[in-house]
Amino acid sequence: MTIGRSIDQINEHTPTFHQLHQALLNWFSEAARDLPWRRVRDPYCILVAEVMLQQTQVDRVLPKYEAFLARFPTLQALAEAPAAEVIRMWAGLGYNRRAINLQRTARAICERYAGIFPQDVATLVTLPGIGPYTAGAIACFAFEQDVAFMDTNIRRVIRRVFTDPTETASERTLLEHARAALPIGRGWMWNQALMELGSLVCTADAPACWRCPLRDRCRDYTARRESDERLAATPAPKRIAERRERPFIGSNRYFRGRIIDALRSLPPGATLALNDLGPQVRPEYTPDEEAWLTAVIHGLERDGLVVWTETGVRLPE
Ligand code: SF4
Repeated sequence: MTIGRSIDQINEHTPTFHQLHQALLNWFSEAARDLPWRRVRDPYCILVAEVMLQQTQVDRVLPKYEAFLARFPTLQALAEAPAAEVIRMWAGLGYNRRAINLQRTARAICERYAGIFPQDVATLVTLPGIGPYTAGAIACFAFEQDVAFMDTNIRRVIRRVFTDPTETASERTLLEHARAALPIGRGWMWNQALMELGSLVCTADAPACWRCPLRDRCRDYTARRESDERLAATPAPKRIAERRERPFIGSNRYFRGRIIDALRSLPPGATLALNDLGPQVRPEYTPDEEAWLTAVIHGLERDGLVVWTETGVRLPE
């Protein structure tokens, strides 16, 4: 689908965008959850929240966010902490590599910018552990810049509202739509509202179109309404581009998490020999599986999450 010209022709002064902005922003004013990271503009707090929220549900992040900031209240405190302690504080959030990447980001900002956060997206993305999404989120949610960016929820809403449901829109196309729709001077609220809508209403498997403020302007809804008058009682069609979750238990990520959990329970600096670690990670473990266990540990080692010494495996210090 070619959108460049058509999007350029639509700006926020057209009735379509004006109504769209009013509808979503009014809804957000009423429906928004009171989340602690929405009350602050401190880029360090925003960074911690965004990294935690990338692959973890809000309910699980809330207590961890508070505890993490209580233990590491500043960028400097996080940069100077032992890596093992950062990994321990990450317990319960999963995807432990995020903990290491977060600390790498903190250290890089301290070393390169004397602890002062860069504000522009182009500089933010040069930091370790910061991709386009996190850079956009920091620029928008901490520095209130009008920046368009994509997370899972924003992407889903933008795709459904703006693109042809019979086509699979590219990431670039979606980003162009997001940029075109961004209301000038209201980027913070707009992006928060898109994320909230994707999280609470326009969900992946069962969008609640009947209570969606964008229903009258949504291409996906319109297409389904035209093909099925009983839309309100039917779930949204499965979209080709939407990724399906793979089974978690038994996956490589599952066993990586089990290894980190086992090492977290050790006293600082203590190691666990391979023969002791194996059965803790996988009850039916046998020495024949040492090659498999070794490969998983090497992966964790490459990510900076564990250290393998002659006496065994431990968290990094
Ligand atoms: S009308 Fe339905 S599909 Fe469209 S944005 Fe709202 S919830 Fe999502």
